[in-house]
Parts: sequence; structure tokens; C-alpha cells
Amino acid sequence: MKRCEHRTNYDLREEALDPQLTDHLDTCESCATRARRAEAFDTVVRSAMITTVPDDLTAKLLALVPGLMPPLMVRSKHWKLQRRAFVGLSGVASILAIGLLVYGLFLLAGAVGVEQWLASASTWPGVAIDWLYRHIPSSRSVVAALIAVHQPLQWIILLILIWQVWERMPLPNKQQTA
Ligand SMILES: [Zn+2]
Repeated sequence: MKRCEHRTNYDLREEALDPQLTDHLDTCESCATRARRAEAFDTVVRSAMITTVPDDLTAKLLALVPGLMPPLMVRSKHWKLQRRAFVGLSGVASILAIGLLVYGLFLLAGAVGVEQWLASASTWPGVAIDWLYRHIPSSRSVVAALIAVHQPLQWIILLILIWQVWERMPLPNKQQTA
């Protein structure tokens, strides 16, 4: 049998069937043999790939791993995580809201003139501040410090906010029991 130089893939499925190929296979014994071999191989591979999954396979696999939750429990755990993430995010949101409020108050205080009030408070001859200075001598330095750290205080508040947000970030991979 003379080996034919015809090169093609012998895909004999109907949707891939090429009229030129069928014509050639009718006349060429070499290609017809190869096509039959290819088809046989294809059939074997296809049938080998068809597997039926037993209905109770999932249950058996789950039973192999001790401590693994059945699908229903896994879903409820997923729900728990979602709820936990929601609680965490709403906590973060509320912290951010409070932080923005405090920062807004700070800006408002600067605009209204609380800063000037604080500056004059250190020399304010009022009864309350007198009493405060007399009974708590360190309060004088506290007021002075408040004036001194007014700008850095904003940054400290910002840092505390960032730390709080970072602290309360939900960690789904850890603490799954929460
Ligand atoms: Zn041929």
C-alpha cells in the first residue's frame, strides 16, 4: 500500500466532515485506514472520558475528611462570614463617620475662633480656670500643650482613626468561629 501524502486530521464527526476528505477517503486506501484508526481512537477516548458520578460520592468524600462541614453547614458558615464582614464594615463606616465629624468640628473650631479662645484661656482670669490652675497645677501645661499641639493633634486623630479602622478590619481567614 502506497503511503499517501495527503495530510489532514481525520475528524469523521458529521459537523467536521469535509466533502473533499470524504471523496479522497473513497479513493485512497492509506488515508481510509488512518481515518478509521483515528476514529476508533477517538471513540475509545470519548467513552473513557464519560464517567458517571455516584449520587452519594459527595457525602462519601466529605466523610473522609473529619471535621469538614456538610454543604448546608458550609453555606451557613459562609453566611456567618458575610454577616461578620458586614458588621465589621459598618463598624469601620461608623468610625469613619465619627472621625469625619471630629475633624469637621476641629475645622469649624478653627474657623469660629476656638483657637484664639484657647490661647486667651491660658491667661484667662476666670474663676474656673483660676480654680483649675490652683488645684491642678499641671492643667496650665495641659492648656499650653493643647495650643502647642493643635496642628499635630489633627494628625494624631488621623493616625488613631487609621489604627482603629485597621484594628476592626474583618479577618475572614482567621477567627472563623466568631
Ligand atoms: Zn490519501
